[in-house]
Formats: sequence, structure tokens, C-alpha cells
Amino acid sequence: MMNCPYCDYQDSKVTDSRDVNDGIRRRRQCLSCGLRFTTYERLQPSGLFVIKKDRRREEFSKDKLLTGIRKACEKRPLPTGAVDRLVEDIEAELYQQGKVEIPSRIIGDIVMEKLKNLDYIAYIRFASVYRDFTDITALKKAIDGLMSDNVEVSRPTNQLPLIPEDELKPTVKGRHRSRR
Ligand SMILES: [Zn+2]
Repeated sequence: MMNCPYCDYQDSKVTDSRDVNDGIRRRRQCLSCGLRFTTYERLQPSGLFVIKKDRRREEFSKDKLLTGIRKACEKRPLPTGAVDRLVEDIEAELYQQGKVEIPSRIIGDIVMEKLKNLDYIAYIRFASVYRDFTDITALKKAIDGLMSDNVEVSRPTNQLPLIPEDELKPTVKGRHRSRR
């Protein structure tokens, strides 16, 4: 909330409020000097809560999501703005679900799904934090799952190969050989 523009007092009462295009216009009266002023409040896309593993509720924070994904994408050769676009996408998807509460697990799954298409290394990094891999077997399973997704075909043609082909192939071949 905005401080009084006349005396900078932080508390005011709302005397009138009405919806305007993408926000709310409020007439306020300063509780200190009594002068009236108008505020326009953009409608926050809030009202979305995340249910955490310990069942606590926390308001969804795009910044938090961005921080987590940025961390996973650190030093990866991603196009400028890719991470921001990813977060926008995820946010939009969450709001599209039209729910008030979303379990953090669901959000994590959406992030993983998107990261998988963006950058394999970032995906693994995120997964290792988010899935809380306790042992190397679980991590290997996730990587195997990733490899068996037929990455060559599923990669959009406009996306740069993030792992050079010749680095990728021996791994895949090796996996096949070990199964026979
Ligand atoms: Zn005032």
C-alpha cells in the first residue's frame, strides 16, 4: 500500500473503490493528515497458494520459482530470456488450472517437464534438488528415464543441441549394450 503523498504516513482508509481495466482504483483518506488521494492497484495474479510437503500453505511466488530455475540453469548455454519465458509459461499454466491451491509437487512436475525440453543438464540439476535424490540409484533412474524419451525426435528443430551429438550417442549406445 502507498504512503500518503502529502505527509508520508503509511496508513489510510479506503473511502471508495472501483474496478478499472486491469486493477482497482481506490480513493483513500490519510489517517494522519486527513487529505484524500487516489491509488491504482494492479490486480496481482495472487490468490494462488502452494501446498508444501509439510502441508503448510504459502502464497505462490513467481520470484521464488524464477530463482530456483535460474539456479538450475546457471552457466547453461541458453538463449537470452529463455528462463524468464519458461517461468512465464509455468505461471500461466498454473493459473490456467483455475485452482486456489496447488501442491508443490505438481508445480515441480511442471517445471521438470518444461526443463526437460529446454536443457538436460538443468533438468537433472533441478530434479536432484527437487526430487531430493537420496541415493545415486534414484538419480540414475531419472537420467535413464530422460534418455529413453528419445531426445533426438522430441527436440524442437529450432532448439540448439545443448549436448553435442557425439557426447550424447555413446551414452545411449552404452546403455543399450549393457542391457543385452
Ligand atoms: Zn497524510
